[in-house]
Amino acid sequence: MLASDLPFDLSGEVREAVRRDRLVPHYQPIVDIQTTEIVGVEALARWLHSPDMSIGPDRFIPAAESGGFIGDLFFQILRRVCIDGVRWGGLKIAVNVSPQQFHDPFLGSKILSVMARTGFPPSQLEIEITEGLPLTDWSRTAETLRQLKAEGVRFSLDDFGTGYANLSHLRELSFDSLKIDRSFVAAITSREENRKIVRSIVTLATDFGMTTVAEGIETEEQLAWLRDAGCQFAQGHHFFYPQPASEIDDLL
Ligand code: C2E
Ligand code: MG
Ligand code: MG
Repeated sequence: MLASDLPFDLSGEVREAVRRDRLVPHYQPIVDIQTTEIVGVEALARWLHSPDMSIGPDRFIPAAESGGFIGDLFFQILRRVCIDGVRWGGLKIAVNVSPQQFHDPFLGSKILSVMARTGFPPSQLEIEITEGLPLTDWSRTAETLRQLKAEGVRFSLDDFGTGYANLSHLRELSFDSLKIDRSFVAAITSREENRKIVRSIVTLATDFGMTTVAEGIETEEQLAWLRDAGCQFAQGHHFFYPQPASEIDDLL
């Protein structure tokens, strides 16, 4: 089946793929911007069913969210992440959690239970929450964050600068890290506005005691500018593409 033959609403197909265990994490290394040493990886969901892997998470994640089974998809990814993570020793792994999942009052307990079963330590897990969708269930989200943080899980605000977060998110949810959206990084060497925004994000993060990760670095020039601006960590095709677990095995 070709990607173009798939229906506009993918949720039925994605639900079936989750049922058949066809969603796997690929991993993109995150590096220290000064030394370019690998400090961790981000797990990014890939749908194996899609014939040429051409249907990316930008299409199947919204389908899982609107179909109401993003939690099932997430736990399929998390189980594999924990198994891979145990094999990789002390490596930190970031996973993406949809804001919608915070409606589940048992989210924190379920995550901790997968970690306990697999033996992957909570202190090596980082949860990325995108700013691209609003966090609606405020008090439940805060409670889940408290529960997981007490066990050593870290949190980052993903795609920062593009979406719905406001400064009270930073104050009340105490994120550990901000991920600077790649749309700002893309034109960093040509647009002064982007440079101003990124400088402000780095200052904001420093003042709140958070680290910064620049997403989507593709060139040496972008890297040099972000390093000089005080950004601490980096991720992008300039260093590594997302890759299957077996390739991370070889890399470490
Ligand atoms: P994200 O969490 O911001 O992940 C970074 C995205 O940027 C990934 O796209 C990655 O492949 C891409 N990327 C990394 N470096 C570069 C670069 O140098 N240039 C360019 N052009 N792109 C780069 P991907 O894998 O297609 O994922 C898209 C989004 O889908 C993710 O954005 C995340 O929001 C979501 N997503 C992926 N996996 C999951 C998941 O398991 N659960 C949830 N809820 N969302 C996920
Ligand atoms: Mg992410
Ligand atoms: Mg992002």
